[in-house]
Amino acid sequence: MRDYVKLTERDNVAVVTHDTAKGTEIMPGLVLQDDIPQAHKFALTDIPKDGEIIRYGVVLGYALDPIKRGAWINEHMLRLPVSPSVDNMPWGTNIRKDLPEAPVKTFMGYRSEDGFYAGTRNILGIQTTVQCVQGVLNVAVERIKREILPKYPNVDDVVAVNHAYGCGVAINAPFAKFPIRALRNIAKHPNFGGQLMVVSLGCEKLTVDMLVDPENNTPENVIVLQDCKGYDAMMTAIMSMAEKKLQALDKRRREELPLSQLLVGMQCGGSDAFSGVSANPSAGYAADMLVQAGATVMFSEVTEVRDGVHFIAERCVSEEVRNKLADEMRWYDAYLDAGHVDRSANPAPGNKKGGLSNIVEKAMGSIAKSGTSPIVEVLSPAERPTKHGMIYAATPASDMVCGPCQLASGIGLQVFMTGRGTPYGLAAAPVIKVCSRNEMKAQWEDVIDISAGAVVTGEKTIQEVGTELFTFILDVASGRKKPYTEQYGLHNFLCIFNPAPIT
Ligand code: CA
Repeated sequence: MRDYVKLTERDNVAVVTHDTAKGTEIMPGLVLQDDIPQAHKFALTDIPKDGEIIRYGVVLGYALDPIKRGAWINEHMLRLPVSPSVDNMPWGTNIRKDLPEAPVKTFMGYRSEDGFYAGTRNILGIQTTVQCVQGVLNVAVERIKREILPKYPNVDDVVAVNHAYGCGVAINAPFAKFPIRALRNIAKHPNFGGQLMVVSLGCEKLTVDMLVDPENNTPENVIVLQDCKGYDAMMTAIMSMAEKKLQALDKRRREELPLSQLLVGMQCGGSDAFSGVSANPSAGYAADMLVQAGATVMFSEVTEVRDGVHFIAERCVSEEVRNKLADEMRWYDAYLDAGHVDRSANPAPGNKKGGLSNIVEKAMGSIAKSGTSPIVEVLSPAERPTKHGMIYAATPASDMVCGPCQLASGIGLQVFMTGRGTPYGLAAAPVIKVCSRNEMKAQWEDVIDISAGAVVTGEKTIQEVGTELFTFILDVASGRKKPYTEQYGLHNFLCIFNPAPIT
């Protein structure tokens, strides 16, 4: 088992794989000057004041004071570099063609009626126009699950698509297009099988015709609570519409489909300094195999790619894709600027405890989950993809906001990497948990699906864990296996990204 990880030749820091005491000779002739917590960095050379601190082969920051060889380097010791410019970024200079061969090219999914990506689950999704209906709908969904769902064994679940948008918002503000697009596209999610059901209130700003296409705005699909005479009538209307939709959904069957019909989302949360060593590169390897097999994979989280955006631009297949990437970064820079913050607002206390000194270090680890394949498309938040391959879908990095954005983009499942641990899950699509270190898996043996910890200790390779994850992704997509969050029903509220004003 190895005691430290140095990532590239150029690096002048390494991270320890376990808590290591001051005075330890960690490598021949290098004695640690401090106690170093697991995943934290120590200096491989003396670093002068304002000297570069290099990990992943990139400058994480500049030393605020001289740092001695063997000393601990934490978040208080470096100055953040200036964010790289997104003007005239070189594109297409790193287009990889020899991706790792995928052993399987098909999966068992639910074909989409509209020719979009396939479903991985068979769910009755009940859409809402406004938060006001949530109480009534939640009671109804409990009853549907208890009284009706058991009659339809081919349907996996009934999910209320509750959210906090819909009224008390500036519905005509330019940025209102983000939440409206998100909710419109979630309603079309392939796991809902084209069976549209909407519960609305009747006086809200987000009207039904803003949520669904005109031909779908019919009494067969829409219930208006203010048109119902009392509580019992509301319940009866919801229960009877749900039963009709469940009858239709119960006819759906899985079939063998090419992987070109699978769309996988990648996200991370609660990252540590091992995320970029083990979990994210393993996910990146699985992503490379998926793309090789024809599948589509998307990664997101603008603030966590911003400092490594050149590494994405060089993988863009066209100037147009590169330009969209730059536009999304500019939009987000302005959004943060308007709130008087910059990307340094991102790392959380837990990230720092896990050894991540700043957003540059976090970004380098985060980008690793996208693997090495060409970037074929860039999406604005909650847009649906039109291409196959690796896609960058610009979203906030917040787990609860990125999740619904990727759902709106149509992901059949999400792969979620963590170092510190989070029980986050989505009701509408399975979420697979991959952790970066063995201690995390030991702590949450029955919450984490796959551990990449053996990559940190040197007992497994990125390729081995990546292949294990690829196989698990296909098992989950095909309904042969359920990740823990799905088994337990751990589902987070959908926080819809709304950069527009609240009224
Ligand atoms: Ca996240």
